[in-house]
Amino acid sequence: MNPIPFNKPFMTGRELWYIAQAHTNGHLSGDGQFTKKCHAWLEQSTGAKRALLTHSCTAALEMAALLAELEPGDEVIMPSYTFVSTANAFVMRGAVPVFVDIRPDTLNLDESKIEAAITPRTKVILPVHYAGVACEMDTIMEIAERHGLIVIEDAAQGIMSTYKGRPLGSIGHLGAYSFHETKNIIAGEGGALLVNDPKLAERAEIIREKGTNRSQFFRGQVDKYTWVDIGSSYLPGEVIAAFLWAQMEEADYITARRLALWDHYHATLAPLEAEGRLRRPVVPDGCQHNAHMYYILLDSLEQRTQVLARMKQQGVNCVFHYVPLHSAPYGIQHSRHHGAMDNTDHLSDRLLRLPLWVGLEEQQERVLRALREAL
Ligand SMILES: *Cc1c(COP(=O)(O)O)cnc(C)c1O
Repeated sequence: MNPIPFNKPFMTGRELWYIAQAHTNGHLSGDGQFTKKCHAWLEQSTGAKRALLTHSCTAALEMAALLAELEPGDEVIMPSYTFVSTANAFVMRGAVPVFVDIRPDTLNLDESKIEAAITPRTKVILPVHYAGVACEMDTIMEIAERHGLIVIEDAAQGIMSTYKGRPLGSIGHLGAYSFHETKNIIAGEGGALLVNDPKLAERAEIIREKGTNRSQFFRGQVDKYTWVDIGSSYLPGEVIAAFLWAQMEEADYITARRLALWDHYHATLAPLEAEGRLRRPVVPDGCQHNAHMYYILLDSLEQRTQVLARMKQQGVNCVFHYVPLHSAPYGIQHSRHHGAMDNTDHLSDRLLRLPLWVGLEEQQERVLRALREAL
């Protein structure tokens, strides 16, 4: 039997046609017709003041770090249980990640532990919406407002998810999406910055265009285009945008199919949770998720290692993540944590992700059978 891959990128069928159109249009660099379509779709579907495609979520987070005007030594409160880019984008500005523990139910930043970690150097709170399930944003926004802090949402996994009806990435001052091939809506490598605070919109465009006012020039708002600020090249070319547009057109369809797979895992594994053999993901009231990920929590690192190996023997590829950033070699030297990190340390050892991709339907029973046997 063929092995079941952990991830398999889904194509809607129109990607190559749109790429051919981009070529026919004679515009392959950034900000052509397909980029404009993607921007409009993101702005309409999220309500963001400005959406800007980037090369990656990492690039969008780097732009956010520039927009936050961090000075060396400024502090950014974030979870340690996250992808390395969440921290690196800010460390590159000389800022210091300050990690607080995660909630045991959603594995998201524990909002009740944020306030105690705030110091006079704190500038940013950075919630990561793990598995496309929202952080407790009302509380986080309220704390930020009271302390005059910027909120940057790492919504890399959060496209099409909502918190109390509001799209993830559109709630803080800034939000970052990923279109990496392992995410729900993909472009290979790709991302977007959502600018929700209108005061940051103009500077975001400039930073993305190498520190020039090129966007204003093309809109006829200034009569020459020149170097006005720091910046870099953060915009993708039209080939990427054309691919991405085909995906955005089918975002509802992709999300619905993923949700059906997620719901099937969740229903089938309920009896195993009732028997105390694993723990299933928790989605709080008011959070509509996007089925980015299905994970289970096992009893121990040893058991996880064993289950992973047995699944692989049966041709089912599962993965785990993350090495908590506060315990990674670079993190130990360049960050600190506030308070105990018990949930981060223990949950990251016990988490196992099951395959979830559009097209898995015919083989999902095989995954579930292998899991039951492995347990
Ligand atoms: C995938 C991911 C990123 C990075 O996204 P890229 O587009 O690969 O740069 C950042 N943060 C989180 C939480 C992610 O899951």
